[in-house]
Amino acid sequence: MSTTRGYAALTAGGDLQPFEFERREVGASDVAIDILYAGICHSDIHQVREEWGPAIFPMVPGHEIVGRITEVGSAVTNFAVGDLAGIGCFVDSCGQCTNCKLGKNNYCLEHVTWTYNSTEVDGSTPTYGGYSQSIVAKADHVLHVAESLDITGVAPLLCAGVTVYSPLTHWGAGPGKQVAVLGLGGLGHMAVKIARAMGAHVTVLSHSESKRVDALDMGADDFVCTSDANALKDLANRFDIIINTVSADIDLRPYILTLGLWGTLVCVGAPGKPYTINGGDLLNQQRSLAGSGIGGIKETQDMLDFCAANNIVSEVEVIDANYINEAYDRVVASDVRFRFVIDTSTI
Ligand code: NAP
Ligand code: ZN
Repeated sequence: MSTTRGYAALTAGGDLQPFEFERREVGASDVAIDILYAGICHSDIHQVREEWGPAIFPMVPGHEIVGRITEVGSAVTNFAVGDLAGIGCFVDSCGQCTNCKLGKNNYCLEHVTWTYNSTEVDGSTPTYGGYSQSIVAKADHVLHVAESLDITGVAPLLCAGVTVYSPLTHWGAGPGKQVAVLGLGGLGHMAVKIARAMGAHVTVLSHSESKRVDALDMGADDFVCTSDANALKDLANRFDIIINTVSADIDLRPYILTLGLWGTLVCVGAPGKPYTINGGDLLNQQRSLAGSGIGGIKETQDMLDFCAANNIVSEVEVIDANYINEAYDRVVASDVRFRFVIDTSTI
């Protein structure tokens, strides 16, 4: 065991505060990582505030982790000390079920061990996330990170990046496709960059007019401010794919009506409350409503390689650890450009 420092919420909705805890010994199949940066995902806030149901406390959030390998177990062949490495939303899966064998171990049918607010496969040992100085994890759930990328913007790829890359590839974003990105926060801005690099025509649908210039600068072809109720009417039957990243409880109907023939609205945003859907809106144009959750380890590596090849990183505001609570409030107010990343040396 080794002691590490982190930031934890001790109770539901409580402020995050300094917290010391133990990491396990490095086993034969494990690596130890000295964490450099950890992104703040809106899912961290949903879980700290129990917006997805009862959670495990103390909670050290953080599932967008980048750092350097400091130790490798005796059976590890894919990493060496000094390598740049990443960890995303989960740190273990069974490897044997149908989904794991398909590479979709994010949907493991046995037990997904989430990076925090979860338990190891024993069902009792709690997991602690990336708002900390170090972590120990199974090497086959750790990702390789290219040295060429600006390291401060890499951590958000591990959740925000793969969460939009997976549906964009699954639903065929590319040349000739009209992609809309609903909500320009952490996930949304990664969707703009990735969809654009895939060759799609990208429209941002945002309720924040103040984000227009940034959206166009990062590669969007069009920007539509949705706080103008009439703006969406001009987009009727337009899109092939809509990636809905909105964290709040919204009415999907006006957006579904902007889907064209065989268009799909993919929910990745997870407000924790049900949507109301009118079946008639889906039968017209043979539209689909879908969802998507992060991505498997292989597709996470594919996404990191795609981002390295296209020089894509997240737009970040790097913060000290003592700013986390203020950062949470700003994320909820849609006031982040476009991801907060904690410099974990400040913990
Ligand atoms: P974020 O940075 O807070 O972005 C969410 C965006 O939604 C905001 O920037 C804002 O964009 C829009 N929005 C927020 N409140 C709104 C409101 N009341 N009405 C209309 N639009 C609103 O959050 P994030 O980290 O990108 O995460 C987004 C959601 O995805 C969260 O629910 C998170 O839990 C979920 N998530 C899911 C997965 C998955 O695997 N499916 C993975 C990660 C995160 P504009 O200002 O541009 O309108
Ligand atoms: Zn996340």
